[in-house]
Amino acid sequence: MLKQTIKNFVSRLFATPPSGPVRLSRDKHGIDRRLVSRHAIKVCEVLNQQGFDAYIVGGAVRDLIVGLQPKDFDVATNATPNQIRPLFRRARIIGRRFQLVHVVFGQEIIETATFRAPASDNQETDEHGRILRDNEFGTHEEDAARRDFTINALYYDPLKEEVIDFHQGVADLKNRTVRMIGDPETRYREDPVRMLRALRFQAKLGARIDPATETPIAKLAPLIEHVPASRLFDETLKLLTCGHAMDCLRELRRSGLTKSLIPLIDRIFEEDGGEAFVEIALSRTDARVRAGKPVSPSFLFAALLWRLVQKRWSALVAQDVQRNEALIRAADSVIDEQMDKLAIQRRHQADMREIWLMQARFERATVRSIWRLIEQPRFRAAVDFLQLRAEAREVDSVLAQWWMDLANSGDERRSQMIDTWQSGHAGARRTSGTSRKRRRRHKSSGAADAGQASAGQADAGFAPDSTE
Ligand code: ATP
Ligand code: MG
Repeated sequence: MLKQTIKNFVSRLFATPPSGPVRLSRDKHGIDRRLVSRHAIKVCEVLNQQGFDAYIVGGAVRDLIVGLQPKDFDVATNATPNQIRPLFRRARIIGRRFQLVHVVFGQEIIETATFRAPASDNQETDEHGRILRDNEFGTHEEDAARRDFTINALYYDPLKEEVIDFHQGVADLKNRTVRMIGDPETRYREDPVRMLRALRFQAKLGARIDPATETPIAKLAPLIEHVPASRLFDETLKLLTCGHAMDCLRELRRSGLTKSLIPLIDRIFEEDGGEAFVEIALSRTDARVRAGKPVSPSFLFAALLWRLVQKRWSALVAQDVQRNEALIRAADSVIDEQMDKLAIQRRHQADMREIWLMQARFERATVRSIWRLIEQPRFRAAVDFLQLRAEAREVDSVLAQWWMDLANSGDERRSQMIDTWQSGHAGARRTSGTSRKRRRRHKSSGAADAGQASAGQADAGFAPDSTE
């Protein structure tokens, strides 16, 4: 306890900049104001007019400086939630512990938070040092000190076009260095999710983690298990959808963090072709993220864990368990085992299961079952998953393309296609090894269908879940 108190004190000592913040002008930070959300600028303007300080903060400033498009814009201010809310037509206070304000402009929400104080010694923590309550307002300088990395503690004043930097974050950003503010070990203990965040920013920015910030991760990785499940799921998902998923996964494995999150991945990587399958899935995910398209969590986790499902499925079939039954058992056992660590929400689990279970049907469909399959809500996702398997040379690409064409066709065309299937046409091609690389062409539909198929292919499995 005493040791922790001393560490907290030292941490704060280091977190305090020796000579106040550095103010950087436009030519030093290089932010193009035209890329800044006009709504975020508006929020800062209104608060300023009322005599408050207000800045765009965090990820948006970091991304703007390195020329990436920010995902969203957050504002930090010395106004309290009750002072902020009445200034905007559509604004609501959210959060119980630490309240902040969502200022709504059509589709865009500007999260506006009051400066917050960092951890203090009388803060309530669990036995590992994880902060359970963190809800005190603070000064601008304190707000900077409680942020995780120097590159995330930058404040942009859109009116003066100035960046305020308390912790040499701009220099770290330019050198592509992820550096913790304060004592890294204490800060990981306060919030173990910061370990995941360090890896994410490293991959996203093509940065390195400063050695002092990196070293404690190996030792502290198991603390991840004490983080509430929903938060862990969100952060893991952010990691896998940051546009550099494979890099993130490799770093997770190297640092031992997968053991506490997706332990099955380690086994999958040891399987023959396991890593290659994951790589195909993640590179498709990255491509979608970079094109600004949505990614479905259930599809992503279904792909990550598939090789293990498949292995157990074949083992059961080899023991004479009926194919569908074997797949159900394999899917359930993998989901159960995964849930021991990273809990995937039930609705995502259900979707993953559906996507997997349909894989057994694609290869052995009958006319009736094809129509039933089409009606399933996750049919498109499952068909897209089949493309992934085809790309990994696990199923015939002609078969996969047939299903994709079917998914992209209207009812009339579907009837024609299913008739062809009925006559054994698709099945015949499916088993012929020579047609593996050839793309199936339909005489009656021609290029239009083919074009539609490839456009649809990009979107099928990744469409956001209907419940979201
Ligand atoms: P992204 O690109 O994913 O949005 P981000 O840095 O903006 O990255 P957010 O989760 O949106 O991440 O958080 C906004 C800001 O809040 C961060 O930049 C950082 O300053 C601060 N922050 C977020 N999470 C933590 C944390 N666990 N500990 C300390 N500060 C944090
Ligand atoms: Mg953000």
